[in-house]
Amino acid sequence: MPTSKPQDQYSMQNPLTQYPQPPFPEQPQPAPGLDAKMDPKPDHGELTYKGFGRLAGRKALITGADSGIGRATAIAFAREGADIVLNYLPVEQPDADEVIELIKAEGRKVIALPGDLKDEAFCRQLVKQAHEQLGGLDILVNVAGKQTARKDISQVSSEQFDATMKTNVYALFWLCQAAVPLLPAGATIINTASIQSYQPSATLLDYATTKAAIVAFTKALAGQVIERGIRVNAVAPGPIWTVLQPSGGQPQEKIPTFGSQVPMKRPGQPAECAPLYVLLASQESSYITGEVFGVTGGDPLP
Ligand code: NAD
Ligand code: MG
Repeated sequence: MPTSKPQDQYSMQNPLTQYPQPPFPEQPQPAPGLDAKMDPKPDHGELTYKGFGRLAGRKALITGADSGIGRATAIAFAREGADIVLNYLPVEQPDADEVIELIKAEGRKVIALPGDLKDEAFCRQLVKQAHEQLGGLDILVNVAGKQTARKDISQVSSEQFDATMKTNVYALFWLCQAAVPLLPAGATIINTASIQSYQPSATLLDYATTKAAIVAFTKALAGQVIERGIRVNAVAPGPIWTVLQPSGGQPQEKIPTFGSQVPMKRPGQPAECAPLYVLLASQESSYITGEVFGVTGGDPLP
């Protein structure tokens, strides 16, 4: 089935044909990879996302903001009126530069603070600097993640296991711990879980374990900080067309059929995740906390 209409989130259309469907070309890259090299290009809402002032004047820190889901979230937040600190790895600067230009074009403040979230001191410094440089902090969006597929447990090195835990779980803990005392009532934290939290792939032993941990962490933290008027929720994407996948997140031979296993028979696009992050960041979701929301193409969460 060809794509039915130009990529656009506002015209009513069949979601099955809204975006590219498999097969896709194999396209190996070393992790973390560059979005700029993907074929077909993911849609981050660059040409289409419309803001309605839903985050006017808010100050947000977004990790993993150079590419994929984080990039789409950063673009949407800027168009909704937020000022933003972007975190990503220094090697991802070419992708980050594109996001910085897009946010500047909206007339919003954008501050780039690249660095490795596996480092506790860096995580604490990142939150402190984001708070100082934005003149406050209202929204923490944890999108950064590491995913490395291995067919057998014997191939998961202690180094890989440790790096996946540090990036996906420890960094989340360090960033939230540093942020909570700085967040005002009305602030929100949004974490990024996965369908893997509930339906772990055999090839994603360490990654799926961290994503299950993120669900529990989100619910426990939400229970603690609601007394301060802070809400915490998580987004759980299914297969999304981002560079995480061809840069080692999947065995390369699975890239051509990526997304074909879900009822919509195609991967989602980052632009299809961002509106949920906007909703959870905005005051519109004022009665929602401790929840996990799927964006899965029809694979329901339990
Ligand atoms: P992506 O590669 O575009 O984003 C991941 C980002 O994580 C990278 O851009 C990088 O900046 C950041 N990162 C990785 N290691 C880091 C480190 N040590 N320090 C700082 N930053 C680091 O891919 P994406 O798919 O947009 O991933 C975003 C999130 O979505 C991840 O948490 C991922 O687990 C989750 N997710 C993705 C899918 C999918 O199918 N793409 C599905 C479910 C969940
Ligand atoms: Mg990236």
